[in-house]
Amino acid sequence: MPFTSLGLSPALLKALADQNFTLPTTIQQEAIPAILNKKDVLGIAKTGSGKTASYVLPLLMNLKNASATQNRYVTALVLVPTRELAVQVTEVFQLFNSKLPQRIKCLAVYGGVSINPQMMGLQGVQILVATPGRLLELVEMNAVHLSNIETLVLDEADKMLNLGFKDEMNRIIALLPKKRQNLLFSATLSADIQHINQILLHDPLVVKIESEEESVDLITHSAYLISEEKKGPLLRYLIKQKDMQQVLIFASSVHQADTVADKLRKNGIDAKPIHSKKSQGARTDALLKFKSGKLRVLVATDLISRGIDINFLPYVINYELPRSPKDYVHRIGRTGRAEAPGEAISLISPDEEHHFKVIQKKVGKVIPTIDGNGISLNG
Ligand code: ADP
Ligand code: MG
Repeated sequence: MPFTSLGLSPALLKALADQNFTLPTTIQQEAIPAILNKKDVLGIAKTGSGKTASYVLPLLMNLKNASATQNRYVTALVLVPTRELAVQVTEVFQLFNSKLPQRIKCLAVYGGVSINPQMMGLQGVQILVATPGRLLELVEMNAVHLSNIETLVLDEADKMLNLGFKDEMNRIIALLPKKRQNLLFSATLSADIQHINQILLHDPLVVKIESEEESVDLITHSAYLISEEKKGPLLRYLIKQKDMQQVLIFASSVHQADTVADKLRKNGIDAKPIHSKKSQGARTDALLKFKSGKLRVLVATDLISRGIDINFLPYVINYELPRSPKDYVHRIGRTGRAEAPGEAISLISPDEEHHFKVIQKKVGKVIPTIDGNGISLNG
């Protein structure tokens, strides 16, 4: 099914062609017509399958004809878990927005940067992309009003409905009109469906794209069994031996991310850490350099395991396993996006072997293991 049969405007079709988006992905085919019809949608589709455009395109269409709104009363609200994702989603809106005959004003608001430019920027905004904390600050300052929201989007919906955001989400939802369109997207679904149904009030279209229906899994998984002390040397060996030019490494803590990045730099491999204890400036800079191929290794915590889209990223390495199997899925989903292949490698210490079995069971995959202790790491 081509994009032309989904009900999008000629301007958006032109923008899609300019982006070399030739065919809609499965989630886009299902979600776009439903959203244009003002249905609620719960969209579950794997990482890298184009969920962002599946709400960005119909939202721009639905707002195209909206009458002039009252200043600072935004019409669409997209909530995301991280600052980096707020920026990225806004970029996708702008990409398509820039081709519309009448631009729709869209803004990202998030913490860690000064609030004043965001307050000023909110003038005339129709689509707001936000992290919950900063949004509430702006509401308290009367810089934005949520009582005219027509559409609420939760990207990484299971994360947004997780305990960590519960209080903020409850406060935000209480400020929204009861009658509204709700759109929830994620690659993984929360076990707590009850809670999702409370948010999705109106007879939602549930779209679940099973990975079997997608083309073959583009990510090759493998794991090295290795003693804890040898993880560093093995990591350097793999980067060199496989000649990895762009690799995203996940560590289990802020401290570990710093240590791994330091060690790599000391061994002549260009690496930067990204985590919650870095300034927003440093976070933005590291991610930008990495995305544009100017930084070889980015060492991250789960801060950026969700949603971040890096074109053609070939390698993801778990220096340590994540606690939750869901995070395994999101971490490795930074590679193998938009039909490009990718390799996901996990380094497993003896202490982690049991947990690794649990993860394999939960994600329904048998991951081949290699005995790393047998490799001559100095060679
Ligand atoms: P998800 O949110 O499902 O993880 P994204 O929305 O971030 O995935 O999209 C992943 C990548 O796929 C992005 O780089 C995006 O530009 C690209 N993409 C999305 N839709 C299409 C399409 N129809 N054709 C080609 N590329 C696409
Ligand atoms: Mg996404």
